[in-house]
Amino acid sequence: MISEFELIRRYFTKAAGKYTRLGIGDDCALIKVNEGMELALSTDMLVSGTHFFSDVSASQLGHKVLAVNLSDMAAMGGQPRWCTLAAALPEANETWVAAFAEGFFALADRFEVDLIGGDTTKGPLNFCVQIMGEVRTGKALLRGGAKVEDDIWVSGELGGAALMLKHLQGQILLSEELVQQCAKRLHTPEPRVALGLKLINIANSCIDVSDGLIADLGHILERSQVGAELWLGAIPSPLIPDIDSLELYQCMLAGGDDYELCFTAAKDKRALIDDISSSLKLRLSRIGIIKRESGLVVKDHQQNVVELAIKGFDHFG
Ligand SMILES: [Mg+2]
Repeated sequence: MISEFELIRRYFTKAAGKYTRLGIGDDCALIKVNEGMELALSTDMLVSGTHFFSDVSASQLGHKVLAVNLSDMAAMGGQPRWCTLAAALPEANETWVAAFAEGFFALADRFEVDLIGGDTTKGPLNFCVQIMGEVRTGKALLRGGAKVEDDIWVSGELGGAALMLKHLQGQILLSEELVQQCAKRLHTPEPRVALGLKLINIANSCIDVSDGLIADLGHILERSQVGAELWLGAIPSPLIPDIDSLELYQCMLAGGDDYELCFTAAKDKRALIDDISSSLKLRLSRIGIIKRESGLVVKDHQQNVVELAIKGFDHFG
């Protein structure tokens, strides 16, 4: 059986990029943060059975474990540069590890992120990535900056990943076309790094939608000490599938794993945000408004208040 060191050498050691002084191979890595920049760090863990099915494709898992971390970097407006990876594997299955590394590095190379260290151990399948990046000092997008009367925006579409999960669990039946569309959302989400970078000096607050819109927007409201009104009809979802609308709303509002960005910005930024949408070819939708009164009110197409007995995902809830 292949040794730990050989596994790392063969599949996880790559030439370091220009922002890394010393990558994998010593006791620590050495990185250089540019003048005038702050280091942004975040860690996200994916555990078999909790975050993914144990039979998920190794290459997709390699993508996702990095994508969810890049998404947090995107939410801060950070430029991702480096990451570490700690992995527990039940066995040293080389074919599996090779496929995982292929998915991981395809994304890492696309975003020019260096893997600069990590750890491997035998144990129940579990991956932990730490992402590190740079953001201009004092310019990071925070959760606490939302202002009364700010527009609330969201990128892409919401609910696709949750719809796919319900399909896999046999709770709903999606058409072939929707399976294609939603499977991508669940298994290989696209981190909105370019959007986060462009929102610096434009957005007042930002978060990535990982636990569901209601829960994640809720974090912005709490940190900013404001409330909000959301318009159900304005929230973008995948092609309206042939399912109960309550089920769809549940997925759009409370489904996790979308990894879109939800941000707030002053009204006079609308034209700039529309320009960003065109330049990135990414749908950006205005879905509500920040209010002085605390709490979150959701209104339907007729402007009636909708009572929602739903919440986002809470691991210990
Ligand atoms: Mg986040």
